[in-house]
Amino acid sequence: MKAILITLLTVLTAFAAAGCTTNPATGEKQLSLISEEQEIQLGREAAPEVERQFGGVHSDYGINDYVARVGGALVAECERPYLPWTFKVVNSTDVNAFALPGGFIYITRGLLLVMDNEAQLACVLGHEIGHVTARHSVDQLQKALGLEILIAAVGTGTDSPDAEAVARVVAALTQLKFSRDDEYQADELGVRYAVRGMYNPQGMIDLLGIFLALPSTSGGTLGDIFSTHPDTQKRIERVRKILKDDYPGVADNPMYKANTAEYRTQVDRIR
Ligand SMILES: [Zn+2]
Repeated sequence: MKAILITLLTVLTAFAAAGCTTNPATGEKQLSLISEEQEIQLGREAAPEVERQFGGVHSDYGINDYVARVGGALVAECERPYLPWTFKVVNSTDVNAFALPGGFIYITRGLLLVMDNEAQLACVLGHEIGHVTARHSVDQLQKALGLEILIAAVGTGTDSPDAEAVARVVAALTQLKFSRDDEYQADELGVRYAVRGMYNPQGMIDLLGIFLALPSTSGGTLGDIFSTHPDTQKRIERVRKILKDDYPGVADNPMYKANTAEYRTQVDRIR
């Protein structure tokens, strides 16, 4: 009984402390009952299992450093730059990328090998950064598991994280499917961060074109960017419209780089 009361009190305190806020990236009102600190902890708890399922972090320091440098240039331009962002290359041959709450971003070796330039890489990383800045995975977790399990998974001042709750969060995160609107929004934010980082946003259209040309099994079971929901062709049309309406002339402006030669040199390390 006492445990139930404490849990109830914790949940009520969380309600009072968090509540309705405006997301800095999307400008939308969000009912965020999980604090930023808790969001980071949920991501941190799930990171080892996600790395394991993706075949482990790639052992080449150089490629990890390169991806982290491109990602770092984008997060400097995003609305939540102070999160503990990490960017890692994982060994999987699947063509995919993945983001955990709090800013833990993964890209597969398989995806790096099918892309042609740094602008495309920036657009993939920008898409994943967008899921984090918009708090998509925390929202989906709250809906899937309920607040009580999330609170139990991060623990409270008096209780350490509950192992069973952590396991449920990790399982939910690895099976998470974003809504169609979340995917469109992540594409839009990805273009925003790529452009702010002085990358050519045509990279997003090229990237989606690469996905269209791949067999449908290429994305594997775990991952995000290769999602066939929504339809890739529709995503391309929406990105084209965003470039035309919000960034006229940017894709033709040589100031916005693609860095093709540098990208090839870097990716040759893992070919
Ligand atoms: Zn996505």
